[in-house]
Amino acid sequence: MQVQENFSLKEYHTFHTSTMARYAAFFSNQEELKELATFQNGNINQIILGGGSNVLFTKDFDGIVLINKIPGIEIIKETEEYVFINAGAGVPWVTFVDYCVQNNFGGVENLSLIPGSTGASPMQNIGAYGVEIKDVFFELEAYHTKDNYLKTFSAAACEFGYRESVFKKKWKGQFVILNVTFRLNKKPLYNISYHALEQELEKQHATSLSIHLISETVKRIRQSKLPDPERIGNAGSFFKNPVISKELLLEAAEKNKIEVPHFPIDECLYKVPAGWLIEQCGWKGYRKGDAGCYQKQALVLVNYENAKGIEIFNLSTDIIDSVYKKFGIWLEREVNILH
Ligand SMILES: Cc1cc2nc3c(=O)[nH]c(=O)nc-3n(C[C@H](O)[C@H](O)[C@H](O)COP(=O)(O)OP(=O)(O)OC[C@H]3O[C@@H](n4cnc5c(N)ncnc54)[C@H](O)[C@@H]3O)c2cc1C
Repeated sequence: MQVQENFSLKEYHTFHTSTMARYAAFFSNQEELKELATFQNGNINQIILGGGSNVLFTKDFDGIVLINKIPGIEIIKETEEYVFINAGAGVPWVTFVDYCVQNNFGGVENLSLIPGSTGASPMQNIGAYGVEIKDVFFELEAYHTKDNYLKTFSAAACEFGYRESVFKKKWKGQFVILNVTFRLNKKPLYNISYHALEQELEKQHATSLSIHLISETVKRIRQSKLPDPERIGNAGSFFKNPVISKELLLEAAEKNKIEVPHFPIDECLYKVPAGWLIEQCGWKGYRKGDAGCYQKQALVLVNYENAKGIEIFNLSTDIIDSVYKKFGIWLEREVNILH
């Protein structure tokens, strides 16, 4: 374990902007983390990075970046129905999903090919194709860097919501997730309720479902829709889908004489696809310098090559403003902005 000075973060986050960190270090266990947390007596800014697939640096980072490499996947308990698997926070999420798929443990196949680390998966309750991490989450262990103690969080304590958890609110920046335990199904319950997944399975004339088939199908859909961050820098969906009231939904439709697509959340609230709102404002395929709005999916902001983080951030502000002006709906950023 070694602290490096003037460290280029370009290969450690998926927007791949040329961002420097004053210091950076890798850690593989709690002891190393504990030691690093007191670097310069803990008096400089610290951030934790997993795969860097949900962050945007708007400038160089004047502090220490701690990169999580805690390894290990282990079965800790089995019942007739379930298997409980603990994974180190530094295990790539795709490695964890592939392990479950290969062993026929059900529950995370719809979450195939989401980049990033297992430790960051509860941060924003990652979700895709009708499944969220909260559906398979059992508990996690986290370390409080300032006060030097360990805490176990149950699902209830994580306060999961749509791309939300207690780690983005009350405990923001305070705990480092060390490992996560998931409860997977031994007798798989397939979830193909998501329209695009159901359609793709139909196209393949699949006669019977399997965890493997769902995983491969999800991978194929994702590869056809989303830019590969190794070729075009991005962090997936840049914005959350807004959840709005019925009144606001009707106002937005009336103002623009258009039907606004929506999905009911409950009797009063509706989720509106942010990508559609952005597209309606003419941003899809927009490019200024090397910062842009991806041509196949307006929800994804991209760095074509040499965009600066601040240029991508400014583009996101312009998008938020124009969606508000046209529809009266505020978009919220899903990506963590590091100023
Ligand atoms: C092409 C692409 C597609 C994507 N698709 C999806 C999708 O379908 N669904 C979805 O939900 N997300 C998606 N994402 C977003 C991203 O992959 C997830 O949010 C992922 O969980 C981020 O993991 P990470 O390790 O890269 O986190 P990072 O970007 O490294 O960190 C994200 C935040 O979590 C904090 N953090 C990271 N690790 C820890 C830890 N161990 N303890 C405490 N805090 C920590 C960081 O400080 C930061 O604030 C996509 C991203 C890309 C690039």
